[in-house]
Amino acid sequence: MQTPDFPLVIIGSGFAGLGLAIRLKEQGEHDFVVLERASDVGGTWRDNTYPGCQCDIPSHLYSFSFAPNPDWSRLFPTQPEIWDYLRDCADRLGVRPHIRFDHEVTGADWDENHGFWRIETSQGEITARVVAAGQGGLSEPSLPAVPGIETFEGALFHSARWDYDHDLRGKRIAVIGTGASAVQFIPYVQPEAQRLTLFQRTPPWIMPHPDRPVRGWEKRMFRRFPVTQKLFRGAIYTFFESRVLGFTKKPDLMKVGERIALKHMAKQIPGDPELRAKLTPGYRMGCKRILMSNTYYGALAQPNAEVVTEPITEIREGSIVTADGVEHEVDTIILGTGFHVADMPLTDWVRGRGGTSMAEAFGGSPQAYLGTTVAGFPNLFLMTGPNTGLGHNSIVYILESQFAYILDALRTMRERGVGVLEVLPEAQERFNAEVQVQMKNTVWTTGGCASWYIDRNGLNTVLWPGWTWDFRRRTRRFDPAPYVLAPAPSPVPTTASAA
Ligand code: NAP
Repeated sequence: MQTPDFPLVIIGSGFAGLGLAIRLKEQGEHDFVVLERASDVGGTWRDNTYPGCQCDIPSHLYSFSFAPNPDWSRLFPTQPEIWDYLRDCADRLGVRPHIRFDHEVTGADWDENHGFWRIETSQGEITARVVAAGQGGLSEPSLPAVPGIETFEGALFHSARWDYDHDLRGKRIAVIGTGASAVQFIPYVQPEAQRLTLFQRTPPWIMPHPDRPVRGWEKRMFRRFPVTQKLFRGAIYTFFESRVLGFTKKPDLMKVGERIALKHMAKQIPGDPELRAKLTPGYRMGCKRILMSNTYYGALAQPNAEVVTEPITEIREGSIVTADGVEHEVDTIILGTGFHVADMPLTDWVRGRGGTSMAEAFGGSPQAYLGTTVAGFPNLFLMTGPNTGLGHNSIVYILESQFAYILDALRTMRERGVGVLEVLPEAQERFNAEVQVQMKNTVWTTGGCASWYIDRNGLNTVLWPGWTWDFRRRTRRFDPAPYVLAPAPSPVPTTASAA
């Protein structure tokens, strides 16, 4: 019988892939590889290098609990520091030798005959009994389908593919999008630009940013007494977790935040009620991601900045045309237009039982059991799969819950001699029905906005609609009850069938 090349292949070396690999090594498991399309680790924190890129979850929580860093320089980590942290984890915790860089996964087919995955990479095929996919939801930039975009003759790039060779000084710069990325890079772009034109479809809610440097004595304390860093992490987690009430139970609580955000805007744009009106959201706070910035409004209030709210109808060689017929001349377009999230590219190339792609199985609404396993796709674990995203807390907490679940599932497979593990479709359906019931009263459903959390069937298949500790409780152990566990098939040898 053909045995696979590896018992386990991990796809991606961002927070998800690296974290699982570290956990495996801690448990003495060394027989796995990590396939990484780029030539370094870091995932989203390697790719997003735009000026001002920073995480909006505090450093001490946005890091592995099993690899604390007492030396974070700021309360909220910047991209270079997170990337350094991940590279350091990969080196220090012995994961790098397991990583095959420049291996882009282009296909994964479940081989029913052998009971393993055939993974197509840019450097040939690799087979694996089990696949853990850590590709993440924010890895494929989404480009707007504006007529004529391909005819633009100036520089055009997405925030996740920042073009540092393009000098922004003195340029007429257009920014499309006002999400978390744009709000962070605009204050850096505006002072360079001759003119900044921001094309806004929907204004975000923006809160004051509480970032500050971590003081020397705090770092020393964290290093000397690691328990203090644990306590600090716990306190941040508890604070962020308390926000779940406003997001998922009582969206009216968000009005308190709205008042703070409006005051914040009024303070930064005191003399321009027309601009303030343009920037004031018309939906409940939290319906879209709540952003934080102390410099965004100030940048837009400068004389060289303009906010355009008319929809874009066309892009020409040297301009952007809006619905009111105005042609805005620009020589640089920066897209802050987000990522393919609900239509995760992985779903096109993962094919499970009967050659069905995951996209076909999902039919526009991604569904998994505990956001991790999918009926019809045996021996496959998704990290940050459907309904595991968060609006209120650190995704690393969810990931660490999934690591525990996956490790326990692998242990169960080993101990029971299981070759094929697959979640029952009815268990998956029950779980998702429950998730959608919980989703009904959340601010994402009732808040009166259109967001990328909602898929083309009108369901929020991105976010976890409850307490994160509840997700952790459910994933603490792998319960085999909702699964079919079977031995690996013994395929008919090809020579025998030929005889
Ligand atoms: P995003 O939140 O999806 O924002 C995309 C923006 O582009 C929105 O303002 C959207 O308008 C606009 N847009 C999209 N297509 C458009 C079109 N055809 N015409 C005009 N406007 C268009 O993307 P992002 O800012 O890159 O952030 C994505 C996610 O990454 C965040 O939600 C967050 O999870 C993560 N992130 C986090 C941080 C952080 O930690 N601080 C920083 C950056 C990113 P509409 O609102 O009208 O759709």
